[in-house]
Amino acid sequence: MDSKAAISFEYFPPKTDAGRDKLLGETTAALQSANPNYYSVTYGAGGSTRDNTRGTVLALREQGLDVAPHLSFGLDGEDTILSLLQDYQQAGINRLVALRGDLPSGTGGGTRLVYANELVAFVREHTGDHFHIEVAAYPEIHPQAESYESDIRYLKGKFDAGADSAITQYFYNVEAYFYFLDRCAALGIDKPIYAGIMPITNYANLARFSQNCGAEIPRWIRKRLEGYADDKESIRAFGVEVVTQLCQTLIESGAPGIHFYTMNQAQPTLQICANLGL
Ligand code: FAD
Repeated sequence: MDSKAAISFEYFPPKTDAGRDKLLGETTAALQSANPNYYSVTYGAGGSTRDNTRGTVLALREQGLDVAPHLSFGLDGEDTILSLLQDYQQAGINRLVALRGDLPSGTGGGTRLVYANELVAFVREHTGDHFHIEVAAYPEIHPQAESYESDIRYLKGKFDAGADSAITQYFYNVEAYFYFLDRCAALGIDKPIYAGIMPITNYANLARFSQNCGAEIPRWIRKRLEGYADDKESIRAFGVEVVTQLCQTLIESGAPGIHFYTMNQAQPTLQICANLGL
């Protein structure tokens, strides 16, 4: 197996002290064995996780790890974003994942969110080339996109504003990813677009996320998972098998790298990496 593909691991900021201790301790120690390029930490647009994201990012950085905080304007003003950027720069962090984000449900419907290309331009304006900026890409197309073409045009807009690479929403249809890469290349996008991969551990949660973010769970996978009902062990085993196969195809077919949505669990991401020889 060609192991040149870059790997990275995504966390969300834990809500409890116990969760934080576990993530920063045993989970990270275990995941380090796969030698990822960096960890990223999600951000709740609307500022709901601002301190928690920052705290988790800085704690990982104190362990000497490369970390990419996710960032979006949400309802925040420029000062808040500038202050976060300054904290991150001072901590020696040089990556970001720049997003528009979604506001939590119930937040004022009239609010216009700041598109990711505008945030990228803002970060470039204020911090120059300091940060390597990742943006989000959608092989199965963003649920609010006007059309397939417009979504790729807006992705190009994020690169034109200064993004360096992209990470995709998770997907289980490998053809959607490679078709998307072809369409991006046809529009002149020549930067890496890393495949976002969600290990399968819990069918109900996966089905709910997928519904919201527009990721398709192929019928054969759904049927198999439904058949396991509450048998968590079988769901995990099947999930590892399917996702290993997906990653293997991606790597063999030239995906530049894989970004794992770990959901703060070392297993099964580690199992998948081990199966791939990564
Ligand atoms: P944008 O790129 O701004 O696009 C949003 C929508 O608007 C798309 O439909 C697009 O076609 C359209 N659009 C884009 N630019 C323009 C423009 N200039 N004018 C008009 N229309 C435009 N969510 C979180 O809340 N926190 C996270 O930490 C987080 N991390 C993520 C990480 C990755 C790798 C991915 C793939 C998603 C992540 N998300 C996160 C989810 C993401 O915030 C949502 O999908 C959100 O709805 C869109 O964010 P975006 O940055 O892709 O938006």
